Amino acid sequence: MNPGPPARSPTDPGLVITCEHGGNRIPRAYRPLFADQLAVLDSHRGFDPGALEMAEELALAFAAPLVASTTSRLLVDLNRSIGNPALHAAQVRRLSAEQREDILARHYRPFRNRAEQAVRRTIAENGAVLHLSSHSFTPELDGKTRLADIGLLYDPRRPGECALCRRWQAALASAAPHLSVRRNYPYAGKGDGLTRWLRQRLPPDIYVGVELEVNQRHVLEAGPQWPALRQLLVTTLRHALSQPQAGLPALRAASNHSTTPRGSTP
Ligand SMILES: [Zn+2]
Repeated sequence: MNPGPPARSPTDPGLVITCEHGGNRIPRAYRPLFADQLAVLDSHRGFDPGALEMAEELALAFAAPLVASTTSRLLVDLNRSIGNPALHAAQVRRLSAEQREDILARHYRPFRNRAEQAVRRTIAENGAVLHLSSHSFTPELDGKTRLADIGLLYDPRRPGECALCRRWQAALASAAPHLSVRRNYPYAGKGDGLTRWLRQRLPPDIYVGVELEVNQRHVLEAGPQWPALRQLLVTTLRHALSQPQAGLPALRAASNHSTTPRGSTP
């Protein structure tokens, strides 16, 4: 299904799309560390299959800046804070402090800076931002099957995030009642990640951060339902944003004058 050209309706707030786990590339200097890890790199532990396609489709549909990475989370996980034990895979944790600092300087801080700049620029232009962080989750983890199709992750203490996720979930339930859409599943939205890092810097009336989690089952089956699901997520988000947003005054006010299309960040 072709999403067509970007269509900015007057109800679009300022959106920023990010994708922290978009690929499984390992920079040349660190490839020997992963020489016997190719199967792991290709698995859900190396990256989020489909998350980059989803992010690109959202960015195109909403004419929003996209900040994405295709470096594997095994080298450095862009959705973890410095100091989190899960920031690096085990073989990277064993490197010297200098080497790990080099990885942060080349592959971590530039991404975080680009994401923060895109968010702050959109706030400056629109008064508020909706930041969507695109992810996907493995259908089976530790022998447990995860039945949900879509997860919407947010901080329950942020009213704008609650309101938006409830409306998006309702729009999905109405448009696609066969899909299971859960809030704060399979993870808690207030856990460590890029959205939490930005929440610590920006108040709830100007920053709304949501992680979109798609079940990789839809991606890996590679049938027509995957592009259809991406399109469904775009149209239902547009619908959710078109309604009066309890708890989202800044976003609603911003939508009246956010008419300037913004380009993508490479
Ligand atoms: Zn992810």
